[in-house]
Amino acid sequence: MRKVAEGVYRVPARSANAYLVEAPRGLVLVDSGLPGSEKGILKAIAKLGKKPSDLKLVLLTHRHLDHIGSAGVLKKRTGAKLASHPFEKPYAAGTLVIQAPSAWSLYGKMVRKLTTLEYWTLKLFRIIKFQTAHVDLAADEESVLEEVGLDGSVVWTPGHTKGSVTLFLNQSSVAIVGDLLRSRRGRLTEPLLMESIPQTEASIKRVVDLGPEIICPGHGKPLPASRIKVKTRAVKPVIIAKKKEEDIDLESLAKDLAS
Ligand SMILES: [Zn+2]
Repeated sequence: MRKVAEGVYRVPARSANAYLVEAPRGLVLVDSGLPGSEKGILKAIAKLGKKPSDLKLVLLTHRHLDHIGSAGVLKKRTGAKLASHPFEKPYAAGTLVIQAPSAWSLYGKMVRKLTTLEYWTLKLFRIIKFQTAHVDLAADEESVLEEVGLDGSVVWTPGHTKGSVTLFLNQSSVAIVGDLLRSRRGRLTEPLLMESIPQTEASIKRVVDLGPEIICPGHGKPLPASRIKVKTRAVKPVIIAKKKEEDIDLESLAKDLAS
């Protein structure tokens, strides 16, 4: 476990980072690693001098197994409430099955193939036991943070997945971004897998506009926001036209949510 900022800790969970945030009325965990990460996370809670029951909220940045993996077990063991964007809820519940988002580079395509293969191998040999869980709270409302008294906001930052969110902490000026950005060789770059490039770019801009000092990604080390290096590129119209059955019209949905 490493301290990122005052009251913010990085907990290396299985395959991805989890973050513990100290709030006035309990602890908040952001993401939960692959199934089996609960042991390490509970250890980290103990290291902070807290009890499992001090964990009050588990916020999932998005639906992928390396982020939601141990949320169900942790919810049972700690009594914490689970929060995610409504789009990601059915994946945590096991109603919808996770599909890897599109890859946009050769390296990304290789990673996509490998992670898909790894996922099915693990599943086939029952190495990972994913416990599904009901998500209690919709993380598109600021009220999820009110209960624990955390001074910050949950920002909808789609792109990597439709329901990706970022936790922004006002006091420490830390943004916990899930897989919106990945940290590699001292840089923060766009994710390898994206459901939508324009949405990812817009979401990164949204996060930058908040003026964070430190960015905490799902993979790799936390870095200063000045290390964001995202290439701008023209999006091929063909890719936009390729609509999948699962795709939901974000704009009309945003209107629905606003009304
Ligand atoms: Zn992801």
